[in-house]
Amino acid sequence: MVANETVKRSGWRKVRFLAVIVLCISIFLTGCSDQQVEDFVEIGVDILLEMISPDTEETQGTEGSQILEVDGNMEVHFVDVGQADSTLIIHDGNVMLFDAATKNRGDELVEYIKGLGIEKIDVLVLSHPHDDHMGGAGYVLSNLEVEAVYGPDIFDIEDLDTLGWYNDMMDAIDAIDAERNQGLKEEEWVSVWKLPRNEKGEFAKFNIGDAVVEFLAPLEDEYSDKNDYSICAKVTYGTIDIMFTGDATSAVEKALITEGYNLDVEVFQSSHHGSDTGNSREFLDAMTPECIVISCGMKNRYNHPVKSVMELYEELGIPVYRTDESGNVVMTTDGTTYSFNVPVGTYTSGAEYKQEGN
Ligand SMILES: [Zn+2]
Repeated sequence: MVANETVKRSGWRKVRFLAVIVLCISIFLTGCSDQQVEDFVEIGVDILLEMISPDTEETQGTEGSQILEVDGNMEVHFVDVGQADSTLIIHDGNVMLFDAATKNRGDELVEYIKGLGIEKIDVLVLSHPHDDHMGGAGYVLSNLEVEAVYGPDIFDIEDLDTLGWYNDMMDAIDAIDAERNQGLKEEEWVSVWKLPRNEKGEFAKFNIGDAVVEFLAPLEDEYSDKNDYSICAKVTYGTIDIMFTGDATSAVEKALITEGYNLDVEVFQSSHHGSDTGNSREFLDAMTPECIVISCGMKNRYNHPVKSVMELYEELGIPVYRTDESGNVVMTTDGTTYSFNVPVGTYTSGAEYKQEGN
């Protein structure tokens, strides 16, 4: 829906540009000889023909070799798991799950995934060590076949092993590792949990069907704020880019800009459920998203999404889709355009919802 609006807007720009050209030519031709007029008319016709021909660059995704060959639709399910994140990306039978809800919603998440006929997850990304992102991972790992788990190095963080969800998750990881490394000494084991990197130590890109996933962060080994361990990822399908930053703060957003990444995307999953710890104006300016999806719970205790962030989105004219208002938000894209299964949401903040007492 939004993509159609974009196409319409670019068409209008073209009409206005044509009108200006015609006006300029007619002013210029006043006072020219017949031969000069004929020559200019010929050039003008060529320019017009060139402009009227299908606008393939903007709308058809033929910007040269960078555009990926894609076939069929990719689906992105921003699953309604309350005040938590879990996003399922599916193309051509290949599946990535980005975060796994809270411990107490893990069973519901698995039910949703199985309800789509999915029994195997190719890549489970666990952004950072908080219950609302990794909490349901143990349940997912124990109830679905998971090929690979990509998570940051969190194993030296103090006191994580006192948390129930962490222990469930590690027990499930250990069980998979034990099975896959049978016959090897423990020091030779390769864990299912890793961060994909190439020989140079840089993040390696990988595919989910025809979609390409690129990790942009974490950029450091240790952070004082656990939110900053968040894996940040850009998923590209054809000409459509989607940005996920977990709960990373503005410090990470700044680092991503400094790193010089191409951050331009069509869709952004709101950082930290719409908190003002992230979602900086600077980062939004760098991404220029056409729309934003917010995963959060209605009347959650953090008052997400917060007022200042919603005001910023509104000021920038970016439509939002919200799991608290609409339930599961599903985006479908053919690599050129995209649409959502639910209407555009409001800019009402979490606190305002509570005040209204709705
Ligand atoms: Zn979170």
